[in-house]
Amino acid sequence: MISNRDDLRRQLAAAGIKPTFQRTIILEAVQGRNGHPAVRDLHQRLVRDAPTLSKTTLYSTLELFARKGLIAALYIDPAEVRFDGLPGPHHHFACTACGRILDIDIACATGQCGRIHGHRIDEVHGYFKGLCRDCLAAGRVPRAPSVPRHKSPRRKSHA
Ligand SMILES: [Zn+2]
Ligand SMILES: [Zn+2]
Repeated sequence: MISNRDDLRRQLAAAGIKPTFQRTIILEAVQGRNGHPAVRDLHQRLVRDAPTLSKTTLYSTLELFARKGLIAALYIDPAEVRFDGLPGPHHHFACTACGRILDIDIACATGQCGRIHGHRIDEVHGYFKGLCRDCLAAGRVPRAPSVPRHKSPRRKSHA
């Protein structure tokens, strides 16, 4: 779903956020594709249009958007938070070979907000992990498990 910038500015204003140029292109970058990008992916893409944008500003802007319900933060990858332009409840599939995170559109008994055993459910997150169909077709194998060993030193990204 690609929204035009007027629509993005309207969304920001409706959420009580001043629609600056940087915020507009940040929202556009997350909503414009369903790849569930990490901060470093978004930063690489956005500095071309906004050379002064720092990773810190980008991250705090994304957190603000998530708090306001414009986007969602995903914690499926223990190494880094990923951002989702589709904030409604839906499940995710993480490929353990290529690292992509894809939306899974299935009806699931636990996939609805509402009341369960008297508890009020506000958020539902379903995570599936495995090999995506492209990696299966290409005969790729899972990468080493992405379980963080120590908090520091941070693992070098090979991207
Ligand atoms: Zn894959
Ligand atoms: Zn998603």
